[in-house]
Amino acid sequence: MNHDVIVLGAGLAGLAAARDLAEGGADVLVVEARDRVGGRVEQTRLPDGRLVQLGGEVVGRSHTAYTDLVAELGLTLVPSYVAEPGDLVRATPEGVSAAEPPHWYGPGDDTCHQKVTAAFAALARTVDPDDPWSHPDAIALDRQSVGDWLRAEGATPAVVRLWEIGQLALADGSCERTSLLASLRKHAAVPGVGHYEYEAWEGLRVAEGSATVALRMADALDGRIRTGSAAEAVTVSPRRCSVHLAGGETLTAAALVSALPVGPLRSVAVTGVSEDRLASLHRQRHALAAKFTAAYDRPFWRDHSLSGLSECEGVLGSTWPQSEGILSALVPPERFGILLGTPAHLREPELLGEIARLYGDEAHRPLATYLRMWGTDPWTRGYVTQWTPGDVMAVGPGHGTHEPPFYVCGSDQWVAGYMEGAVRTGRDTAEEVLRRG
Ligand SMILES: Cc1cc2nc3c(=O)[nH]c(=O)nc-3n(C[C@H](O)[C@H](O)[C@H](O)COP(=O)(O)OP(=O)(O)OC[C@H]3O[C@@H](n4cnc5c(N)ncnc54)[C@H](O)[C@@H]3O)c2cc1C
Repeated sequence: MNHDVIVLGAGLAGLAAARDLAEGGADVLVVEARDRVGGRVEQTRLPDGRLVQLGGEVVGRSHTAYTDLVAELGLTLVPSYVAEPGDLVRATPEGVSAAEPPHWYGPGDDTCHQKVTAAFAALARTVDPDDPWSHPDAIALDRQSVGDWLRAEGATPAVVRLWEIGQLALADGSCERTSLLASLRKHAAVPGVGHYEYEAWEGLRVAEGSATVALRMADALDGRIRTGSAAEAVTVSPRRCSVHLAGGETLTAAALVSALPVGPLRSVAVTGVSEDRLASLHRQRHALAAKFTAAYDRPFWRDHSLSGLSECEGVLGSTWPQSEGILSALVPPERFGILLGTPAHLREPELLGEIARLYGDEAHRPLATYLRMWGTDPWTRGYVTQWTPGDVMAVGPGHGTHEPPFYVCGSDQWVAGYMEGAVRTGRDTAEEVLRRG
């Protein structure tokens, strides 16, 4: 059967695009490799009924594409961990502290931090997030790492360390391997006074569960999603596009929307698309990360007036409370290899040991734990987009653009990954397909 549009991938981007296409009257089919929808949003339920998020979880107040969609789906946004009372903990090899400033700070470091943060925000105001390539110093800003820029601005080693622990807490790549231009672009997309303001980026969560957003969209697309169907090759032509599935079947449509993460997309043979378009797509890379979740019968960290939020220099980069008694934790790309090299049976006890160092021995007695190795998952191969120095210019202005009848969406096609990027680019793509008829 020939369709109007085939969407590759049933993550938030593919589902958001397909839902709008279907509502716009298109005959759309979504092709999904896994046996479930949602991609990088996934949830499970504890025997006591509490939901556990294994992937994408929180959004910010400025993530309007996502928050609008949540309202349309009749779901509820509630404050995330950012509103949780209590102190943040920082853990380094030499100590664990909940006090401000960080325990490695000396005289003058706090003033220096304020100064470089203000300089960063001011520089970000000169970058257009939709067109960073037009910045007069784009090449130089892209070549420089955030770490080099901080030092050039006079940041002390203690201040660079605070930026680094914050960056790895988000499971982004190290400051030393992140393009300054990419970092400025991300900041410009969601401006704030400070650097990465938690309220603006992470202040909300969906009460019914983050993955419920995907499940609701899939319900509305009943009969139009084929799970367990991996695309191996696509052929694009103005007359008819084809998708060749693992197993030998071929599907056809007038237009194709790729909503695949950049890693798995590199394994799909694409013909009929310009060299430049493909080279740009294939140039993007992902930060490899893992998410660890430990569910407890109660939020025992509150006994010590702690919020559950931490920034760490262990294998874990951070922890935060995802809901009552459930702690999320991320393993950043710089430490993902250490986790991979750890015998499987030692991984969870060692990660719980790191949590116990933060919050006490009760951490060793969870009701359940979940370790999701997103970095090596064949259908994700990453976590969020990573922009190392030089990557913004190398990917170029083709980032997030279409070559009809071949369209591209997904969180990797926005400034910095995130569920906002998936929904925003998915819906924009559907609008573009419908506009072109
Ligand atoms: C651990 C973790 C924590 C995160 N935390 C947050 C957070 O708190 N807030 C936030 O905003 N974002 C977060 N993110 C990022 C966010 O979840 C993603 O950016 C977003 O969900 C990606 O949506 P997508 O549709 O672009 O891609 P995906 O969700 O990756 O969907 C792509 C789909 O394509 C399918 N696929 C792959 N290859 C093929 C193929 N060959 N054929 C057919 N189908 C294929 C995949 O199975 C998948 O279903 C997190 C991500 C992870 C992994």
